Amino acid sequence: MLSHNLGYPRVGSHRELKKASEQFWAGKIDREELQKVARKIRHQNWETQRNAGIDLIPSNDFSLYDHVLDTSLMAGAIPGRYHQLLDGKSNRELDLYYAMARGVQRDGVDIKAMEMTKWFDTNYHYLVPEFTINQKFSRYSDKIILEFEDALQKGILTKPVLVGPVTYLLSGKEKEAGFDRIDLLDNLLPVYISILKELASRGAEWVQLDEPALVLDLTEKDKLALQSAYTQIREALPKLKVLVTSYFGALEDNLGTAASLNIDALHIDLTRGAETLPQILADQAFFASTKKLSLGVVDGRNIWKNDLQKSLDFIKSAVEVLGENRVMIAPSSSLLHSPHDLELEKNEAVLTPEIKNWMAFAKQKLDEVATLKRLATTDWATDEAFIANQQAIETRRNSALIHKPAVKARAQSVKESDFERQNAFPVRQAIQIKKLQLPLFPSTTIGSFPQTDEVRQLRANLKKGTLTIEEYEARIREEIVSSLRWQEKLGIDVLVHGEFERNDMVEYFGESLSGFVFTQNGWVQSYGSRCVKPPVIFGDVERPEAMTVKWSAFAQANSEKLVKGMLTGPVTILQWSFVRDDQPRKDTAFQIGLAIRDEVVDLEKAGIKVIQIDEPAIREGLPLRKHAWNNYLKWAVDAFRLSAAGVADQTQIHTHMCYSEFNDIIDSIAAMDADVITIETSRSQMELLDAFANFNYPNEIGPGVYDIHSPRVPTVDEMIALLEKALKVIPARNLWVNPDCGLKTRKWPETEAALQNMIIAANILRESV
Ligand code: GLN
Ligand code: ZN
Repeated sequence: MLSHNLGYPRVGSHRELKKASEQFWAGKIDREELQKVARKIRHQNWETQRNAGIDLIPSNDFSLYDHVLDTSLMAGAIPGRYHQLLDGKSNRELDLYYAMARGVQRDGVDIKAMEMTKWFDTNYHYLVPEFTINQKFSRYSDKIILEFEDALQKGILTKPVLVGPVTYLLSGKEKEAGFDRIDLLDNLLPVYISILKELASRGAEWVQLDEPALVLDLTEKDKLALQSAYTQIREALPKLKVLVTSYFGALEDNLGTAASLNIDALHIDLTRGAETLPQILADQAFFASTKKLSLGVVDGRNIWKNDLQKSLDFIKSAVEVLGENRVMIAPSSSLLHSPHDLELEKNEAVLTPEIKNWMAFAKQKLDEVATLKRLATTDWATDEAFIANQQAIETRRNSALIHKPAVKARAQSVKESDFERQNAFPVRQAIQIKKLQLPLFPSTTIGSFPQTDEVRQLRANLKKGTLTIEEYEARIREEIVSSLRWQEKLGIDVLVHGEFERNDMVEYFGESLSGFVFTQNGWVQSYGSRCVKPPVIFGDVERPEAMTVKWSAFAQANSEKLVKGMLTGPVTILQWSFVRDDQPRKDTAFQIGLAIRDEVVDLEKAGIKVIQIDEPAIREGLPLRKHAWNNYLKWAVDAFRLSAAGVADQTQIHTHMCYSEFNDIIDSIAAMDADVITIETSRSQMELLDAFANFNYPNEIGPGVYDIHSPRVPTVDEMIALLEKALKVIPARNLWVNPDCGLKTRKWPETEAALQNMIIAANILRESV
């Protein structure tokens, strides 16, 4: 039985790569210095895995920015606009690489970055390969060879990892019409074969080709492409051992394809697709082959300790059918999606020993894999590590820290009527028009105002203890008041308090709710040098006390105008956290929904008449398989409705979503039934509105009229043009005027100028109708 790992986090346990990359981009260190940091991380990762006792250790799982971009560079899939960077002599690969990743603007060169999108349903973003008709590929970067050699010199014979050719093609985009990118397979394969041949000639025994596309809805053509790819690779390399990995889901209808691939081992994800195991063990073609089955038993995407008993049961059932030799043990996916090392969490006030004992980060997951291999061939029931593990699992199952009968009972007794506002939207709208007295085309902003260094410093000083809570709150109140005066002067209709007290729209709520904990070093790569530190939802979620009422009520008391209350919705809080794995996500979403509901009701009681519940993450929670969409959308929409429906008809509920494709989920967006939705549309020139127009979306809507991602100040005319475009498809009385998103990352001068123009545009429009 072999143990192996699919990939290890690459930013370094103290985010060394982030720091070095940013210094390199700022011109503060040179490429040698950067490469030194990168090499050190790789060496440490390999050593950590060797010390843990992992049999097959990956290489080329490291990346300076993104492994899909690495693959594009390997295959010479370099879009035309970067070719001017190709003609240099030596040492240009890195410049080209970062130009593709981040764009370049220097010495008269101005080239945009490649597009970025989410890697499957993770929060990791990759750079989308660009393809053209009949595109030719040729080997360009030898990174994979260099890293393999580097490890070899350290005495480690690694298993090089590559994005598989089919997943690579499917992850890309056709940049011109008239072809299907999967048709490029035969052009692409020679590059893979050439690389694999060189690896084999340098001594590689195993290679890992990641084909998570195996858990997607594939066409017959895609399936044939998989067959063809691995048949061709086998023919070219009869002796190299090829492991193909699937992960992030079950194989379902792709099982037959996966089981019959001409390869040496197939990896399946048992944390997200356990049903695949009995199916593949019953598959005659798989059984009759000599292929190994790699069992992804340790969750690569969460922070919970593995239940060794459960994993050993999986292993046992596989060994019974296939024999020990044909079974491999691994994490479910690359550990890229886990934080580095739980042992770095030393602050017991933040993470208590009891909760910490339920968790495992990447480094601990390696130990779990090695332990499972050891236990699988012993009488594990009396093993010390096994007993300790089962004790931890057992305390988690019963801990009063986690399980709060009252919270569970409340979530279970939710009734249909709890999801419903008192009356349907037309009735509510009529009441709100009367009560709120807003003009046509009301203007508002999405919530946050610039978080200046000064404001950040306030929070930091409060944390350090150099500012008392009274001093801190007084300063925040000053910020709120001055932003209110400023909004009034501009003539905005629905004001906001500015969110100065919030570090992050999820963390802020997590810190006030029970059932959440935070880590100090639990960083996970989001893209390039950007890392996030998601909160951990470990237990039943409850709202011990009001979270935002103090600030919103203060703001409302200080203005004659309406001030909008500002909350983050249950789906977004869920989506941007590490979520407990001992109950369905839906149950956790409902618990959070109820907590937010209480806050909404309290805001209403405090005199707040307009309340926004942000849900930018609704779409990213969509399951990978289409057939699972309805179920998800139903509970996600219900969780939102639960949070919103506790108020009277006259209270106006807003929601906000960032840039998102709405077409295929528009009925669910409508089912959320927010009185007003604000969305990001300016970069798409209002195109995203079409989904709402085609659907005859009935409620009010604020399509963003300016892009907040750029410091550029849009002109009055541009915004009028966008609003006129919107008016073609949205009835005038339903149209709001607002920016695309919150203004947290902007500076004050451009914010003032842009909002001023926005208000002028709204006024001109009002006069014209
Ligand atoms: N209310 C939040 C803000 O203005 C919304 C942020 C978001 O949509 N991502 O910052
Ligand atoms: Zn947004």
